[in-house]
Amino acid sequence: MRPTYSPEAEAFREKVQAFLAEQLPSDWAGTGALDHDALERFTKEWRNTLHEHRYLALGWPAEYGGGGFSDLEQVIVAEEFTKAGVPSGNQNDGFGITMLGNTLLQWGTDEQKRHYLPRILSGEDRWCQGYSEPNAGSDLGSLGCRAVLDGDQWVINGQKIWTSSGHLADHIFLLTRTDTDAPKHKGISFLLVPMDQPGVEVRPIKMISGDSEFNEVFFTDAVCPRDDVVGGVNNGWAVAMTLLGYERGASAATSPIRFQAELDRLIDLARERGLTDDPIMRQRLAHCHAKVQMMRFLGLRTLTGFLAGHPPGPESSIFKIYWSEYHRTATELAMDVMGADGLVPTGRTPSSAFQTDDAGAPNSTASWTTTFLTARAETIYAGTSQIQRNILGERVLGLPKDPEPAPAGGR
Ligand SMILES: Cc1cc2nc3c(=O)[nH]c(=O)nc-3n(C[C@H](O)[C@H](O)[C@H](O)COP(=O)(O)OP(=O)(O)OC[C@H]3O[C@@H](n4cnc5c(N)ncnc54)[C@H](O)[C@@H]3O)c2cc1C
Repeated sequence: MRPTYSPEAEAFREKVQAFLAEQLPSDWAGTGALDHDALERFTKEWRNTLHEHRYLALGWPAEYGGGGFSDLEQVIVAEEFTKAGVPSGNQNDGFGITMLGNTLLQWGTDEQKRHYLPRILSGEDRWCQGYSEPNAGSDLGSLGCRAVLDGDQWVINGQKIWTSSGHLADHIFLLTRTDTDAPKHKGISFLLVPMDQPGVEVRPIKMISGDSEFNEVFFTDAVCPRDDVVGGVNNGWAVAMTLLGYERGASAATSPIRFQAELDRLIDLARERGLTDDPIMRQRLAHCHAKVQMMRFLGLRTLTGFLAGHPPGPESSIFKIYWSEYHRTATELAMDVMGADGLVPTGRTPSSAFQTDDAGAPNSTASWTTTFLTARAETIYAGTSQIQRNILGERVLGLPKDPEPAPAGGR
């Protein structure tokens, strides 16, 4: 592990810092300091600025409007943006740029790349992810949403669920079953489907926090063109796994920065409430401090491997388990620090339902209570803790495979 960067990398970092200093107001404290309307306006304008300066799709080649940055440069930009408390895009960009765009660069036809990549960057197409179904989450290979070829188009029937930001999207990348006779992982195709058509219905799901960040999506004779299958018919599983690698691998650089900033805020909260002399509270805060330090080194180890040309493999499950379980512990501590005040949340709610509140956020009870509630989902999305432990057991430690459930009618 090398916890330092080369002088060339540090020189690049200064360029990124200069860009941020030039583009942001002098009293900038982070998006957490903006109210929700101001945040929406800022994110829209900031996305345009990033697009104009080629900071939006950092790793894409310049011919598709990307920054063409090296892996190391991308890590440095991500670190500096996180420290400055600015977003790297809008709510759908994680799906459009990080997941789908990178996957299309690997699997897409020239025509698909030429058509879709510029539209993702311009914001003309906003994407969401159609993987999970009511009976296919951890066991994604059991998915049942069907697509049948009819002339020049696929006709789609079925349901997806937990579709994050689906209400803000106009396109969905969809795993569908296109061969019902093939073994379950072999009859799946990855389709690109417009949502603005009569056969697609989006129904919001209310979360425990009261927000509706995700949705059910129903397909009734919905259609997409025959050529909008990525990676070949019945080869969708391989494409889906490539995309999941981008979904799970992104946060080794940024999570430790976000969680350190959040912990600093939590220590301030404990101080404000006169709890830093309480031996149990001190012990719990120190436990969180040690965990965030370990997360930083774990992230650096992942990054060192990545920068040495080893893409994150099954070991990335360690990082996913680590940050998501830490965050449940830290937000439970925040609830105990607030005591009964946590039952009557007031003040600004978090900007995002994912991970921590943003840099600059006030220490409001509404920020902490909502983050506590949304942290419950973190050990579920992008693969549950149990599934990550199975991956580690089987693919890193070489333990025997998880037994298949008994067939229906069996024990
Ligand atoms: C906030 C949030 C956002 C999401 N966004 C999206 C999205 O945008 N698009 C999308 O497609 N999906 C999304 N998901 C869905 C997510 O990927 C699934 O919830 C997840 O994969 C788990 O599947 P499931 O909910 O069907 O639970 P199940 O698979 O039914 O699991 C139920 C429980 O059984 C355990 N379990 C299951 N199988 C095993 C096993 N073999 N060994 C041990 N334990 C096991 C699980 O760990 C879990 O505790 C989102 C989920 C959340 C919470």
